[in-house]
Amino acid sequence: MTFLLIKRLVMQLNVMNVCVRPDAYTYTSFTSEEAETMAAVVDVEKCTGCESCVPVCPVEAIVMENGKAVISEDDCIECGVCVDECPEGAISMPG
Ligand code: SF4
Ligand code: SF4
Repeated sequence: MTFLLIKRLVMQLNVMNVCVRPDAYTYTSFTSEEAETMAAVVDVEKCTGCESCVPVCPVEAIVMENGKAVISEDDCIECGVCVDECPEGAISMPG
């Protein structure tokens, strides 16, 4: 959990274009507007509502709504775990 908190702090600093050891992280600076579009995305046409992705999210950013997975753009830390977990290939990372 400490790692996740540090990761989130680093991402927030990068959003503010504050340099945080660029050699140690793969993140690049991006604007707040770009950051809002970088959460994982669910293709509702592919999602079967199996709920496999919900428990694997380390920050509980995925909830089920009307039988489909929905990812909170505010909470997603872009770890990619749900992308690998989805048996339908319904989740992707933008960019
Ligand atoms: S990418 Fe990671 S943080 Fe974002 S919704 Fe998927 S599991 Fe959760
Ligand atoms: S794992 Fe994939 S198919 Fe299952 S609920 Fe999540 S997005 Fe939908």
